[in-house]
Amino acid sequence: MINAKATRFRDAVIVGGGVIGSACALALSRGGMSTLIVDNASVARPASYGNAGHIALEQPTPLASHAALRAAPGRLFAVGGALDFRLRDVAAWGPWALRYLQACQPDATRSGTQALSMLLSAAAPAWRTLVQDLAAPDLLIEHGHLLVWESAGAAARGRASWTAADTGVARLRDLSQGERQTLQSRLAVPLANGVAFDGTGQIADVSRLLATLDEVHRSRGGERIRGSVVEIGEVDGRAHPTLDDGTTLTPDVVVVAGGVGSGALMRRAGHVAPVVAERGYHIEGPAGDWGDLPPVVFEDRAMIVTRFADRLRASSFVEFARLDSPADPRKWERLRRHAEALGLPLAKAETTTWMGARPTLPDYLPAIGRSRRIAGLIYAFGHQHLGLTLSAITGELVGDLALGRTPALNLSPFDIARFERGWRLS
Ligand SMILES: Cc1cc2nc3c(=O)[nH]c(=O)nc-3n(C[C@H](O)[C@H](O)[C@H](O)COP(=O)(O)OP(=O)(O)OC[C@H]3O[C@@H](n4cnc5c(N)ncnc54)[C@H](O)[C@@H]3O)c2cc1C
Repeated sequence: MINAKATRFRDAVIVGGGVIGSACALALSRGGMSTLIVDNASVARPASYGNAGHIALEQPTPLASHAALRAAPGRLFAVGGALDFRLRDVAAWGPWALRYLQACQPDATRSGTQALSMLLSAAAPAWRTLVQDLAAPDLLIEHGHLLVWESAGAAARGRASWTAADTGVARLRDLSQGERQTLQSRLAVPLANGVAFDGTGQIADVSRLLATLDEVHRSRGGERIRGSVVEIGEVDGRAHPTLDDGTTLTPDVVVVAGGVGSGALMRRAGHVAPVVAERGYHIEGPAGDWGDLPPVVFEDRAMIVTRFADRLRASSFVEFARLDSPADPRKWERLRRHAEALGLPLAKAETTTWMGARPTLPDYLPAIGRSRRIAGLIYAFGHQHLGLTLSAITGELVGDLALGRTPALNLSPFDIARFERGWRLS
């Protein structure tokens, strides 16, 4: 049975306590609502824990594009890249892939870029407000990030491509001599070239961020329980979530923020919600003499290295698979080989391993809005590679919806009903 307190009336129930659900819960409690987070995470830690910590404002073009499609063959795991498709799980990602192809049409990419640019422009101010609210301004480090290449060919192609790209509110520049020397002194391989981005940054420590969100939420009277929401129905014009032990809760507002798990719930509530698990991997170990470098993207290796407090994390891979299929140990092995080749501190120490899934919709835009099928049901999921970056602004927007205020941004591009048009594959 769930904690008896949970059955007590709450203004809002938030399904999912990852970074999106936690940011939403905090925004609702800030607005005076009593909140309950229901999260079913057990041993496996979700993407909100395992991500690279990068505030990635430089990526306003959704990955649903002709450019991404053209680049895909050269990025496959089989040829040394990060992109992989678990063939045994084709039933989980095949229908999603058909929708993805549709979303790669130039018009769709253009409107997707406009929508994502709008969200990303508001992301940094929302983060500044959130860390102030958490009384932990040091959680946000706005020190940009570096991107480097090891071969001259990759450097020439990469630099040309980034220079031509829309980098939104982030600004690209050449590495300063000091930056280049500092980074080079940490590495065992010579760098061919690199660039620096200003205006981006990182979360100082994602574990501490999640713990702080939880702590502040509780300090405002919010609760969090372990449990699985299996269904959301409508009773007397209100959304009522039912838990796996049969308990039905009766709040005014339900927010679905369950990452990949949101798909099944939303479909049971009558929505078309084709969210797929795009799984990523990391290895982590002591930071050694890495210093306080900002996140570094080793583009030829499709790997990002981020320092969190006294730990260093190397993350990579985009693996289309069922959420609960076994991890592929070859991916951790490859990360270890990269760490060794680069001479990272990670190569000299015991590392921990992690695998988890980005929640991704076919057009690489999140779903944020109010259900037109069930009164009081709000959703916020599908934040793909940008969930950490967009969590603070998503919390603000969901807070507006729940508290009956007009959201500060136009949410129509993020309406889940967009998938009801065209193919009904989910
Ligand atoms: C390797 C990797 C690196 C990444 N790096 C970055 C980065 O640098 N910057 C960035 O911005 N983003 C990054 N991301 C993406 C980011 O981590 C995700 O977009 C984000 O964490 C999604 O958060 P979420 O809260 O929606 O989902 P999750 O983190 O998956 O959390 C959802 C929670 O809901 C729970 N849940 C699901 N269904 C139910 C249910 N029915 N009942 C109860 N609970 C439920 C789950 O157990 C889970 O705890 C990365 C992702 C990966 C995998």
